[in-house]
Amino acid sequence: MSARPPSTPTGDAGRADVAVVGAGPIGLAIAWRCAARGLRVTVHDPAPGSGASAVAAGMLSPVAEAYFGERELTGLLVASAARWPEFAAELGEVTGAALGYRTEGTLMVGLTADDLAEARRLWAYQQELGLPVTPLRPTELRDREPALAPRVRGGALAPTDHQVDPRLLVPALRTAAERAGAVLVPGAVRRLADVDAGVTVVAAGCGAAALTGLPVRPVKGQVLRLRAPGGAAPDFRHVIRGYADGESVYLVPRHGGEVVVGATVEERRDTDVSAGAVLRLLRAAVELVPELAEYDLVETAAGLRPGTPDNAPILGPLPGRPDVLAATGHHRHGIVLTPVTADLIADLVTTGVPDPLLDPFRPERFGRTTEEDPWN
Ligand SMILES: Cc1cc2nc3c(=O)[nH]c(=O)nc-3n(C[C@H](O)[C@H](O)[C@H](O)COP(=O)(O)OP(=O)(O)OC[C@H]3O[C@@H](n4cnc5c(N)ncnc54)[C@H](O)[C@@H]3O)c2cc1C
Repeated sequence: MSARPPSTPTGDAGRADVAVVGAGPIGLAIAWRCAARGLRVTVHDPAPGSGASAVAAGMLSPVAEAYFGERELTGLLVASAARWPEFAAELGEVTGAALGYRTEGTLMVGLTADDLAEARRLWAYQQELGLPVTPLRPTELRDREPALAPRVRGGALAPTDHQVDPRLLVPALRTAAERAGAVLVPGAVRRLADVDAGVTVVAAGCGAAALTGLPVRPVKGQVLRLRAPGGAAPDFRHVIRGYADGESVYLVPRHGGEVVVGATVEERRDTDVSAGAVLRLLRAAVELVPELAEYDLVETAAGLRPGTPDNAPILGPLPGRPDVLAATGHHRHGIVLTPVTADLIADLVTTGVPDPLLDPFRPERFGRTTEEDPWN
């Protein structure tokens, strides 16, 4: 992998050193990190924060999301999650904003014997990787979370899987980027050739495909937001995720009374909400935590995850274009991967030297992009 970014500002008064296309969590965090290093940064987006992050649950789950066949991705997730405490503290300090960052950990559960057998296969794999997963007996599980249904057969604790509220995170990242000197430019980028900068970073989520020809596709996720009666805090503190009669579901409690219930995974590009998805998600949620039936249903929504053929992000220079860096394809993991992506891309921009952590994620793994030179 090679890069030819400027290591110092260009000195050209009208030209940005770095233009970031996309003001989601990834683009804004990169802009923040680059601007904080003294580079002149512009961020281009017609609707900042309107992509997948607008509906995302905000689980920081390298352990619960360590799936078979994704070892390299898991390594990056673990590396990024390890940066989260410092990242959250720094962002909170710079902006004074609350992020809803919580560290109670995640309970992974199985409702039926079949659900538990399925979950245990995955926990065994996660433990084999050396990840912190502690199986719990049903009594231990309910001691930790009395709100769990008595029918829940068993579970395990992933203490290092935390959460943040993306609806607080993204505005905070915007504030941090702007305070560091980045300039938000409202408007969509139609062609990379229209961007005038030393380095262009494409962090446009699903929009990256049209700009670069990279294989980023929308993966639809429907999600619900419930609210505890009277706005009280939910009766459970951990993120709870697992299987209920074969249905995969997660429940993310927030201090303000919100519980995010998610999410479908569909190979579709519309953002319609279907009655069937709401029914399945609610049924699974209530089977795991019965009191949720008493909560208000305050929002149903769908978002489009920027998926890739191997579920891993695409990070680094486009083949033959050292001045165009991709930072996209974060699929289900863009919130947890925000700190590591921002640091690695900002390092690449300022030093021109790619961190070895980037190696498995470079754009070349998919061959040349489909259009030889789509920006000309
Ligand atoms: C239902 C659901 C639940 C999720 N839960 C989690 C979770 O718990 N944990 C987690 O880590 N991740 C989660 N994700 C994934 C996460 O939301 C994404 O990976 C993340 O938002 C990707 O960030 P991004 O900045 O790359 O893209 P996005 O958040 O999609 O933002 C892209 C931005 O680029 C802009 N843009 C697009 N095209 C252009 C263009 N041509 N010019 C200018 N701007 C453009 C858009 O307007 C948008 O603001 C979830 C996603 C969904 C849908």
